[in-house]
Amino acid sequence: MIDGVTVRQAGEDDAVGGVLPRWVALPETVEEIATVLRACAERDLAVVPAGGGTKLHWGPPPERCDVLLDLCCMNEVLEHAAGDLVVRAQPGVTMDALAGELAGKGQELALDVPFAEDATVGGTLAAALPGPRSFRYGTARDLLIGITVVLPDGTVAKSGGKVVKNVAGYDLGKLFTGSYGTLGVIAEATFRLHPLPAERRWVVADLDPAEVGPVAMALAASQAEPSAVEVDRPDSGPVTLAALVEGTAAEARAETLRELIGRGSLSVEQPSWWGLIDSDDVLIELRFLPSHLGDVLDAAAGWSVRGSAVSGRLLLEARREMERDEVATTLTRLREVARAHVLAAPYEGLDRWGPVSGLPLMRRVKERFDPGRRMSPGRFVGGI
Ligand SMILES: Cc1cc2nc3c(=O)[nH]c(=O)nc-3n(C[C@H](O)[C@H](O)[C@H](O)COP(=O)(O)OP(=O)(O)OC[C@H]3O[C@@H](n4cnc5c(N)ncnc54)[C@H](O)[C@@H]3O)c2cc1C
Repeated sequence: MIDGVTVRQAGEDDAVGGVLPRWVALPETVEEIATVLRACAERDLAVVPAGGGTKLHWGPPPERCDVLLDLCCMNEVLEHAAGDLVVRAQPGVTMDALAGELAGKGQELALDVPFAEDATVGGTLAAALPGPRSFRYGTARDLLIGITVVLPDGTVAKSGGKVVKNVAGYDLGKLFTGSYGTLGVIAEATFRLHPLPAERRWVVADLDPAEVGPVAMALAASQAEPSAVEVDRPDSGPVTLAALVEGTAAEARAETLRELIGRGSLSVEQPSWWGLIDSDDVLIELRFLPSHLGDVLDAAAGWSVRGSAVSGRLLLEARREMERDEVATTLTRLREVARAHVLAAPYEGLDRWGPVSGLPLMRRVKERFDPGRRMSPGRFVGGI
């Protein structure tokens, strides 16, 4: 126990990227997170926060990890102000539990998080991948309107939502979304919600790779207003494109999209591959100008590719075992046409991020928030 907080010895299952922590702390309140972080600061112990643990293996292993801060006990939806379309939740609430609560009032957090039975609010923010409907609703960063964090020295800081106390000019929500646990601990989050759409229709069509870019652009600009336009190409060959229409007159609007594509079928069921990559031994995220989609698909030949045809975002998955050098060669090819970030790969010495222009600024932010380098050290870009 640290001052009333439950702590247990770590076991093999608690390893983070092969690095075994000494203890697992299980705080139940924001103040208890602060207590643990203060105790770790006094003893120079390194901390890795954990939600559902579904992506703890993403990113390089931590340089050191003494304490795994498991947020599973902080699993309550604190406030659902349905009239204001706002929800405030603890970090350990699973995305499924949150969706269930919101659906009761006909609302949703429009993030499309897969593995929702395990993925938590905190982990979803810290990993910050965009899903299919980010084209219409924005990403986690856009839907987050307030956050409470605990900094590595144990200070509790809040921004947005109904609170005014802030950390000297920093937008904490934007900084902590996508920070992979390297700046501090997300202790509470407030999100903007949307009404659950009354109807949904998918239009699905197989296209030649060269057709996909222009078709996707036409769909994005259409007055039928798709919420998402996704593509799937298992290895090479034809690309399956699926566009989602939500809300009133969904059937008629989907039919408009089908006519624009010139073929395809309508469905009330989402395609099995929609918004999901289910194996992540080697997983690469690509960001690019949507108009470059054709070039990116060419450069990704031989890989399984899924993602948004209209937001310039694809995930690449290796379908077979690959040597490190083979992945490195692919990265070099991809980086000629896109920004490529390796989300997961079981090798050392791979350039996971490529060139990142904001790196000096990110280093200064890390230095400001975590000068002792105790929060998930080495897990982020540039060894942050
Ligand atoms: C829209 C969207 C689409 C996605 N698509 C895919 C996909 O197709 N395939 C796929 O494999 N995954 C995908 N993911 C990721 C997947 O959903 C993750 O399982 C989830 O985001 C991580 O949740 P977790 O609770 O398991 O986090 P964990 O695995 O526990 O942690 C993930 C990271 O967050 C940090 N962290 C966790 N909690 C906190 C906290 N409270 N404060 C600070 N840092 C913390 C951890 O240290 C770690 O670095 C997607 C995620 C989103 C949001």
